[in-house]
Amino acid sequence: MEFGGTGQAGNNVHKTFFGAIADDFTGATDLAGLLARSGVPVSLRMGVPETPPTDSSPFEIIALKCRTAPVEEAVSETQAALDWLRRAGAQRYFWKYCSTFDSTARGNIGPVAEALMNALGTDQTVYCPAFPENGRAIFMGNLFVGEQPLAESPMKDHPLTPMRDSNLMRLLRPQVTHPVGLVNRLVVAKGATALRGELQRLRADGIAHVVVDAVSNDDLHVIADACRDMTLMTGGSAVAMPLPKLWLEEGLICRDHAVGRARAEAGPAIVLSGSCSAMTNRQVSAYLASGHPGLRLDPLDLAEKGEGSAAEWLSSRSPDQTPIIYATAEPDEVRRAQERLGVERAGAVVEQTLAACAVKARDLGFRRFVVAGGETSGAVTKALDIRKLDIGSEIAPGVPWCFARTAGHEVAITLKSGNFGGEGFFTDALERLGT
Ligand code: ADP
Repeated sequence: MEFGGTGQAGNNVHKTFFGAIADDFTGATDLAGLLARSGVPVSLRMGVPETPPTDSSPFEIIALKCRTAPVEEAVSETQAALDWLRRAGAQRYFWKYCSTFDSTARGNIGPVAEALMNALGTDQTVYCPAFPENGRAIFMGNLFVGEQPLAESPMKDHPLTPMRDSNLMRLLRPQVTHPVGLVNRLVVAKGATALRGELQRLRADGIAHVVVDAVSNDDLHVIADACRDMTLMTGGSAVAMPLPKLWLEEGLICRDHAVGRARAEAGPAIVLSGSCSAMTNRQVSAYLASGHPGLRLDPLDLAEKGEGSAAEWLSSRSPDQTPIIYATAEPDEVRRAQERLGVERAGAVVEQTLAACAVKARDLGFRRFVVAGGETSGAVTKALDIRKLDIGSEIAPGVPWCFARTAGHEVAITLKSGNFGGEGFFTDALERLGT
């Protein structure tokens, strides 16, 4: 290990330098994967650890499942995460949410950011969910998904957080008590000094919440450079990507050459999909078309008859065929289930069933898990009682393989958020791990 008090950076290095809090599990693995590209050790905790930070890494990420939780609950959970990261010695903080700014009318992006700012005693933060590599760009404060404004993209039909406005300032304003502003692309294009100057000018005007435009990776570099000393940044994972290099150059953190070398026990693989995003629909179709056995879950059936038949189906499968169990469906079908059961119950029965299937699969000897869906991943890792993930190699931008312990077994798991990965993602993931 190179990091620590005797590393190249000298005695003023804290064991943990960067502490991030993510509002869902796949968002956390996405950030972890991008940070791990730097070769600096990254630990990902599933929920706020119950024990004090004795084994913390230079980059610590705490994954919560608070995207759609009641605001008060999200704020108190993120405060607990902040306390743990502070005790680990973090010097910079990051509030990570989805690159499609997934939130409800009340939050939780704004209220959590504001509570973190209060706790950290800072009067300004930035908001940059842009992820150009994945087609998320912000221009004049409006978020685009590919070439479509957010509110015209498939996100308008998301089961839990339908996004019906593309303007980030308009989305943010009702969520916070302090003023919201924008640094637009014309300023970002002038470079880090100009951006820093504009942020200072806005701060003098009392603007606490600043949306920052970004349409390319170069813009993200400018933003990271200008904000590298900010106590708190908020955004998608991509704006954090340039930070490790900048901090490495400053000698604030060090690399460790063993990063990503963790291994899983030998054993078959399974795909579990609870995401209904447009991309996941295509991924599930492609995977089924390539001949893998699949079980489609119907929320109405599950609500009526319970999850027993899914476990039975799994037990009767030959594990080497790498089966898929999925609730993934087109928007019309999702709406039908939601009308009958309510949004929450429809989501919950699916999540519970996929979580139970993961436990059953582990007990049957499965050791590689490909999970699609942010909420779904939260439910699956919780059921498997996975508390910590070591980050391995990336499968697609923002989606790494991770290694973890569950019930005494070393397993590999990847947690893919809805729109991530290409059409062949499931097969790519399994090939990458050598299945
Ligand atoms: P994503 O990453 O695409 O947002 P999530 O897992 O976070 O995926 O969210 C999808 C939500 O939709 C989950 O709560 C899941 O249980 C629910 N869901 C999945 N399939 C269906 C379905 N067929 N009908 C209704 N809700 C569903």
